[in-house]
Amino acid sequence: MNAKKPDVFQPGERFNGYVIEKLLGKGGLGAVYLARHEMLDSLFAIKVLYPDVANQNDTYRKRFLREARLATRVRHPNLVAVHDCGYDESRKLYYLVMDYVPGGSLRDALAFSGSLEPSQAASIVIQVAGALQAARPLHLVHRDLKPENIMLQPDGVVKLVDFGIAKAEGLGDSLKTTTDTIFGTPNYISPEQAMSATDVDERADIYSLGIVFFELISGR
Ligand code: ADP
Ligand code: MG
Repeated sequence: MNAKKPDVFQPGERFNGYVIEKLLGKGGLGAVYLARHEMLDSLFAIKVLYPDVANQNDTYRKRFLREARLATRVRHPNLVAVHDCGYDESRKLYYLVMDYVPGGSLRDALAFSGSLEPSQAASIVIQVAGALQAARPLHLVHRDLKPENIMLQPDGVVKLVDFGIAKAEGLGDSLKTTTDTIFGTPNYISPEQAMSATDVDERADIYSLGIVFFELISGR
């Protein structure tokens, strides 16, 4: 949570055909809001990039738009669907619209119960593995697989979010990052990702998923 950042929207505010209902959470680069599409009368999650972040560094703006672009190319029941993205001229705001996943993250579930039953942990891991499998033909590497980025619906369906720092090969829009910048969360990254953020392939995600599996069962 990045509590210091000012709120981008206020509840009740209208934005591009949506009515903002509430703040869902703040991340390092932006915030996620629950919003209702007025005409469709259905709920979505709108992620916005903090304006100062977008202005301060072009890399973040590119990464944000890349997340949206890449996410629309892979469709899978266990991957959060991204529907729209754009730049709002009047508000000077980059935003993307995705499925709203009710229920909170796996991190919340772990905080609540400490650890999970092995059968439930296995069900979650199998679902995330399915999402990774779907991303594989595009050579998409998530690179930040952790409980915070795995959302758990009340019906037990799991949705992987945040392909934001994903690396895509062959899409012609590789992230301009220096090789010595290590993206990812230290506890979950593979040894090769710790050595170099750019020289990783799909196996790095499988490693991270293994760590998540261990944590789900052991609670540590
Ligand atoms: P982070 O940098 O922590 O990954 P994000 O900006 O991706 O931050 O997300 C902030 C918070 O918003 C997350 O911790 C999560 O609780 C919530 N969130 C993100 N995407 C969704 C979604 N599609 N549906 C519901 N909540 C979401
Ligand atoms: Mg996230």
